[in-house]
Amino acid sequence: MKKCDYCGKEISNFEMYCCDMCEQKALKYYKNEKKYRNVFGFFDVICIVSILIFCFTALLFSAKVALTGSGVSLVVLGLAVAVFPMPTLNQISRFKIKKAVFTTRLCGLILIALGCVLFVLGII
Ligand SMILES: [Zn+2]
Repeated sequence: MKKCDYCGKEISNFEMYCCDMCEQKALKYYKNEKKYRNVFGFFDVICIVSILIFCFTALLFSAKVALTGSGVSLVVLGLAVAVFPMPTLNQISRFKIKKAVFTTRLCGLILIALGCVLFVLGII
């Protein structure tokens, strides 16, 4: 049985989506994805690089600076993931858009929470 590309509901073999709403949401998602994927990828790399730099700082200077710095970077990365969730194509074909976006957003929130914990550990 084929499934709706957006919500994952079962549909007939002749359709792509279960309803007009899903089709519109999916099209909107693909449009945004095309528009933001590069910006987001760039942003991702910057955050990950800065986390690495802060980890390196930990070895040279103090663990506190590293914790605070990586905390902030993680929060920024988490915000980017939560606001512009870009699941991989693999995730989308497995879970369909709705669920993949939700899971990615959840990961963003977890990153934010983790970042806050690191930040607090760094300043106390
Ligand atoms: Zn649907």
